[in-house]
Amino acid sequence: MGLHYRTCPFCEATCGLEVETEGREVVSVRGDGDDVLSRGFICPKAHGLKQLHEDPDRLTTPLVRRDGRLVEASWDEAFEEIDRRLSPLLAEHGRNAVAVYLGNPNAHNLSALVYGPALLRTLGSQNVYSASTVDQMPKQVSAGLMFGTMLSVPVPDVDRTDHLLILGANPLVSNGSLMTAPDMRGRLRGIRERGGKVVVVDPRRTRTAEVADEHHFIRPGTDALLLAAMACTLVEEELADPGALREHLNGLDEVLELVRSFGPEQAAQACGIPEQEIRRMARELAAAPRAAVYGRIGTCTQEFGTLASWLVDVLNVLTGNLDREGGAMFALAAAAQKNSMGAAGSGKGVAVGRWHSRVRGLPEAFGELPVACLAEEIDTPGEGQVRALITVAGNPLVSTPNAERLAGAVEGLDFMLAIDIYVNETTRHADVILPAPEPLEKAHYDVALYQLAVHNVANFSPPVFESSGPAEWELLMRLAGVMAGQGPNADVGAFDDLVIATVVQREVASPGSRVAGRDPAELIAALEPRRGPERVLDFMLRVGPYELTLDELERNPHGVDLGPHRPRLPGVLRTPSGKVELAPPELVTDMERLRAALERERNGGMVLVGRRQLRSNNSWMHNLPALVKGKDRCTLHVHPDDAERLGLEDGGQALVSSAAGRIEAPVELTDAIMPGVVSIPHGWGHDAPGVRMRVASSHAGVNSNVLADEAQVDPVSGNAVLNGIPVDLAPVAAAVDPAAASA
Ligand code: SF4
Repeated sequence: MGLHYRTCPFCEATCGLEVETEGREVVSVRGDGDDVLSRGFICPKAHGLKQLHEDPDRLTTPLVRRDGRLVEASWDEAFEEIDRRLSPLLAEHGRNAVAVYLGNPNAHNLSALVYGPALLRTLGSQNVYSASTVDQMPKQVSAGLMFGTMLSVPVPDVDRTDHLLILGANPLVSNGSLMTAPDMRGRLRGIRERGGKVVVVDPRRTRTAEVADEHHFIRPGTDALLLAAMACTLVEEELADPGALREHLNGLDEVLELVRSFGPEQAAQACGIPEQEIRRMARELAAAPRAAVYGRIGTCTQEFGTLASWLVDVLNVLTGNLDREGGAMFALAAAAQKNSMGAAGSGKGVAVGRWHSRVRGLPEAFGELPVACLAEEIDTPGEGQVRALITVAGNPLVSTPNAERLAGAVEGLDFMLAIDIYVNETTRHADVILPAPEPLEKAHYDVALYQLAVHNVANFSPPVFESSGPAEWELLMRLAGVMAGQGPNADVGAFDDLVIATVVQREVASPGSRVAGRDPAELIAALEPRRGPERVLDFMLRVGPYELTLDELERNPHGVDLGPHRPRLPGVLRTPSGKVELAPPELVTDMERLRAALERERNGGMVLVGRRQLRSNNSWMHNLPALVKGKDRCTLHVHPDDAERLGLEDGGQALVSSAAGRIEAPVELTDAIMPGVVSIPHGWGHDAPGVRMRVASSHAGVNSNVLADEAQVDPVSGNAVLNGIPVDLAPVAAAVDPAAASA
């Protein structure tokens, strides 16, 4: 019998788990009561870890397409096939002919975060895509422009705040997103027990809204107008006061002037929130001793995603709550990051649009192009056309816009490789599938998510089981070998040495680093005998702000508590000016587009939004029985007033049509949705032929992304518009049995 303490890899909350094993069997999964961040809290998804381990559909052997069928192959055969197909294609058509799509689980994956960049550098393609551009990219762009790095995202100091304004987020279900915060129910209760207030703005009365003090329905896509109107109120009523922040700001006067013309009386009409309510919300935010504004998926995946994300932090600044205890603060992660060492003014800031997509000219951001243009990059002939696709832990045919066009495009590829644990809606098109190890077979450390945590911690989980195949980093580096022209049997150890050397060299060359100017060879030797991602992590911890080592983390299986957030301005800033850029030119310019939306005619049509569900995060989770049991969750939420007008019935089927496509979905009537808005959760639609996910296929649901129009993006970040999609609704007549009809 073994007891293992691990960080849950299934969402951003990073809860601590106690996993009991017997041989290679998982006996139980419980919350780790001693975990320094989650203190025993877990959600139902955690139990999926055992079911994932036992899932007979989970791939453990490579698959190679032979005579049109995916059949089992050895690792050597799989890599030989990759080399045979990919190498000539790269030689003939160039690097951009190969696109890569990275799915959301990569954000939780130590090997992918450490070795993924090396793989992409070796490939050298500009056609890199990820789930970020159907998710949080607008926030990363706004934070990058304001503070200087893509992960300098302020997070609400929820455990000390007195007032939390939440827009387009459902943290009671998600346990935070761009806000690592297990047990949000307890944390929100804490705010109210301190005498504070929680306000939720959302087109749905979510579970979070139900426990809040106040909830406002808002018309999807109008959050930026609401936030600008609140900022305008602060200016008009002389409540805007950044206080001590003022000395760290560039562009304050410009922003104060800019928001003046976005008055609440006009915004009220567009948002569906009365003017007096907007003014009151602004006054209460300003009056709270400590307050934070937090926006998430609903504020990102819409046509003004970057503006809304920026205005969230503009409000945090104008109320003096940025970088203040109980306000919106910057985490200080243990593994060294761009913004954790060195001084303000030592950064270059961020640049977006360093290249553009071939067909539509959409801008790059942080090294990737918007996934909304992936289909057209594949199916539009011409110089630079994408001819091969590599997916890593991703299912873009379910999770990205206009899924039907992308499915057609993928069928026309010359070659497709997937690194995945399932044959899903996307990977069923692959020519080769390489199964990555399951979570219990690899080490875990949240390099990215601790930069977004509401409390500073560090927690390392060694593997529980030995992997039957290669370690994930070995698999990635063997693939890098093919891309580097070294054939299917490259020396992965040499690649690993190159990765650590690159990381160490960069740190040694960084003026703010504690190892600046040191001998790289000596620093690498000190990490012996570690190899792989653990060696890189050990180095990042050593040169990080707390000077930890991986040995120390291994001695503390429940994690190390590094304390609450502390003010980090100006040291956190990596803008060239060393100041917070409150008025980035890209966003100031985009306000004209927002102004035009104020005058837009509203035709009273219906719009579609998504919804997050407690038992679902990624589409593969639908193959775990514990997470799909019970009533059908992939339903169309419709307000009863709309249903009556449109002739829809509870339990009946509705035909939902948009500019991109049409689907049929079961209707669920609820007054928890704003009239004029309908909702379908994201990540479903598992009835495609060839999918080898038996549980998911028997709970197929419908793919809401068939309705998302890939032409609609937030132009600053390129993020897809997944919320506020105009749709038409009609009842689907019950099928008539012809025999019964003629009888
Ligand atoms: S909230 Fe997230 S991290 Fe915590 S147990 Fe659930 S899935 Fe795992």
